Amino acid sequence: MEFSSNIASLQPSATIAVSTLAKQLRSEGRDIIDLSAGEPDFDTPAWISEAAVSGIESGKTRYTPVAGIPELRKAVANYLSSVSGDEVDWEGVVISSGAKHALFNTAFACFGPGDEVLVTTPYWVSYPEIISLSRAESVFVSGNENDNFLVTPKDLDDAYTEKTKGLILCSPCNPTGGVYSLEQLEELACWAKERELVLIADEIYREIYFGASGSHAPSVLELPREKRGNCVLIDGASKSFAMTGWRIGFSYSENELAKKFASIQSHSTSNPASPSQMAALSAFSNLERAMEEVGMMNKAFVRRKDLVANLLRERLGQFSFVEPEGAFYFFLKIDSLFNDDRTGSVDVCSWILQEAGVAMVPGSAFGDDRFARISFATSDDLLEEAIERLSSLLHEG
Ligand code: PMP
Ligand code: GLU
Repeated sequence: MEFSSNIASLQPSATIAVSTLAKQLRSEGRDIIDLSAGEPDFDTPAWISEAAVSGIESGKTRYTPVAGIPELRKAVANYLSSVSGDEVDWEGVVISSGAKHALFNTAFACFGPGDEVLVTTPYWVSYPEIISLSRAESVFVSGNENDNFLVTPKDLDDAYTEKTKGLILCSPCNPTGGVYSLEQLEELACWAKERELVLIADEIYREIYFGASGSHAPSVLELPREKRGNCVLIDGASKSFAMTGWRIGFSYSENELAKKFASIQSHSTSNPASPSQMAALSAFSNLERAMEEVGMMNKAFVRRKDLVANLLRERLGQFSFVEPEGAFYFFLKIDSLFNDDRTGSVDVCSWILQEAGVAMVPGSAFGDDRFARISFATSDDLLEEAIERLSSLLHEG
């Protein structure tokens, strides 16, 4: 069968592919430690799940407005106002079926054939695919490896052309854990505004931050409104509240653009699942309690980050990395393991999975083949065991 040119270059998500393979090998009886998963290993807090159950029991099982129930949009706007320090208009908030969906809406509404979108590298695996599905083209911009790959306006200048229509920033970054300071965000936002670009700020890991306790990673929302330009903020419940399977993400943009996102949803998915909206409503309406949960998860993430960083330095000194400041990933430089048989990150990760039973995501999925990503969203014991296995494999030869 001949497929549409819409999907001519489409590749399935490599992050999902590796975790699916890890699960499959495990179900076949292999002893696999899965460090590929891009989701918190915690359960959704029970009181959040219970709100969905109560919603189902009270008949909240029908279609809702496509952009989400107004109560949830208002609760999210209230949360974003607390991040921004400035009032966020709830009509600019559109609830989607996951942050991925919000990114799709943005690309579809803002880009098209002939447009270029600047994507900072290493990038989250789905950005180039989403841009290509909107029939625009990604232009990759890498920052300095020694500065955790953070890009500067100078890096962007080199990639900018008259076709450039947008810029995607991810902070805290998946896969590096890099975080832009507010000053850096301001410089980049001003750069994008001067060129009338759409600035897509993916802040889905904002709350998973290892700065001062109780704080979140700097947000574009903290910039004065006039400095933000055409900004679309992407966020959701998946990472902060351990709600990946519920599929609740959102965007916040100018109202006019938000209406376009709702129109796209009205012809594609309609509303996000109504019980999931009830769960998210409970989380965003009880911010103090929700942030206590975030605080507890962050405590575990900080402990695990320190554990892994120390073990990597002690046992796997040949892998350099930059200590993450947020999210839950280490991006390890594994190119010292390349040889005639293992010529890239896919080969190295397959070899490690086969020989040591440790699943990692090849850096090629994030646009840098010299690296591999490990997630530390798993128990301390498994993290220790995984590094022990890697160390034994590498010291064996
Ligand atoms: N952006 C980034 C950077 C991510 O890592 C993810 C993880 N899947 C998403 C967006 C999408 O999140 P969601 O699961 O809510 O669609
Ligand atoms: N964002 C996660 C990851 O990077 C989840 C998987 C996905 O949606 O690609 O692994």
